[in-house]
Amino acid sequence: MNTKENILIIGAGLCGSLLALRLGQRGYSVKLVEKRPDLRKVEQDAGRSINLAFSDRGMKAMRMVGLENEVKKLCLPMLGRMIHDTTGNKFMSPYSGKKEKYINSISRPGLNMLLLDAADKLPNVSIIFNQSCENVDMENTSATFIDYITKEKIIHSGDIIFGTDGAGSVLRNNMFIDKELRLSFSIDWLSHSYKELTIPASENGGFKTDNNALHIWPRGENMLIALPNLDGSFTVTLFLAHETGMDNFNKINTPEKVSEYFEREFPDVVALMPDLIDEFFENPTGTLGTVKCYPWSTFGKTLIMGDAAHAIVPFYGQGMIASFEDVVVLDKFIEKYKGDWEIIFSEYQKERKVDTDAIADLAIDNFSEMKEHTANPLFQQKRKLEIAFENNYPDRYNSKYSLVTFNEDIPYSVAMRRGRAQDKAILNLLDDGKITEEMSLEEKLTLVLNETKDILHDDDVAKNL
Ligand SMILES: Cc1cc2nc3c(=O)[nH]c(=O)nc-3n(C[C@H](O)[C@H](O)[C@H](O)COP(=O)(O)OP(=O)(O)OC[C@H]3O[C@@H](n4cnc5c(N)ncnc54)[C@H](O)[C@@H]3O)c2cc1C
Repeated sequence: MNTKENILIIGAGLCGSLLALRLGQRGYSVKLVEKRPDLRKVEQDAGRSINLAFSDRGMKAMRMVGLENEVKKLCLPMLGRMIHDTTGNKFMSPYSGKKEKYINSISRPGLNMLLLDAADKLPNVSIIFNQSCENVDMENTSATFIDYITKEKIIHSGDIIFGTDGAGSVLRNNMFIDKELRLSFSIDWLSHSYKELTIPASENGGFKTDNNALHIWPRGENMLIALPNLDGSFTVTLFLAHETGMDNFNKINTPEKVSEYFEREFPDVVALMPDLIDEFFENPTGTLGTVKCYPWSTFGKTLIMGDAAHAIVPFYGQGMIASFEDVVVLDKFIEKYKGDWEIIFSEYQKERKVDTDAIADLAIDNFSEMKEHTANPLFQQKRKLEIAFENNYPDRYNSKYSLVTFNEDIPYSVAMRRGRAQDKAILNLLDDGKITEEMSLEEKLTLVLNETKDILHDDDVAKNL
């Protein structure tokens, strides 16, 4: 492998920092350029998902770069969903019937700092902050930046350029403008926006409510969720329609209306959020959308990765994870094709696109599951059955959630196809009364597996017409 090649990476978020670290470990000379200040020195990110759900595919990426043990220190286990109803009752719905399978809450800046620190230690990686990329010359692999401190225009070049500059990627926009490159691009905005709020730690620094769960207040059209932080607080996120339905961001626009809405819909949480009103009006309202585009590479010299290539809505807790998985998949092709970037990029995008499309679609499905279905009796029956299957027959059954979240070697597209067929099978069998109390668990599982096989077969027949 020719390790002398110079790599320029635009954007030192989660994907760009991991990519710089991995390419640095492989011996490439890496320049990572970020528009914001160094988050290890300047506190940032107010109102921007300060914690994230982190699970097995992400851990696989951390293992690849030797940070598994370090990252575990940042993790708070969440064993299931704690569902809250409007009267303050709650119940726990585990993520898996397998005791060792759970997801984690992790600090976004904490994880980003860990990756930046590890990359910074490598002599062949340099990281530059406060420089914003304005334009990329893809054919000549150079990019123009504005330095926010000196106001100077700076040109960085490399043999290869990666765009890990997030959902609003400059590199992707440059690709889109050049019609010769035929970049297909779509953005589907979600009807709902989000706002981050806080349940602070109690006076003695402890948690005010259960810290081993991802809390959900499902309310049909809208929902509230909360994830714990290591300091005893929770980051609470309200997902609320922007302008449609009975309750929406446009209508809830005075302190009285915020109080009325929260007292009515989430009464058990109001007392835990002393700063609710201030935070509601001070914190930004974020928009959510799904970005799909293709191709991701130009001239065998540039590649967009992470949110720049495939931003998704956050309801499967897989956006960052998918961006990390990008780096794992790219690394596999770097190893296989020994630094021949043209073929690496071409094989990478061919394999990866179908999987990032799958997780994008699954994330949209999960929005309905979280805000509506978690409160639905048929859905709850399905989950109970799946938990029993996973608990008693761990080698024979994985729910869709488990396939996506806890099976890091199964591609997202495979997990989606199998998971959707299983869901359809169980829901149909339950609804038709074909799964009865008298049946043994083994009989129920056999019935579900046979029904799933039939559905997958029907799908294949339709696909091959
Ligand atoms: C509300 C919410 C909740 C989420 N929850 C989860 C979750 O629980 N689990 C999960 O896995 N994912 C979650 N995600 C998704 C996750 O945040 C993203 O998928 C992830 O941040 C993508 O990483 P990235 O590095 O590709 O992009 P980003 O994190 O956006 O990083 C891009 C970086 O590039 C920099 N940059 C941008 N433009 C330029 C420029 N012109 N020049 C130089 N630098 C630039 C930015 O400053 C930034 O540092 C959530 C997202 C949201 C909005």
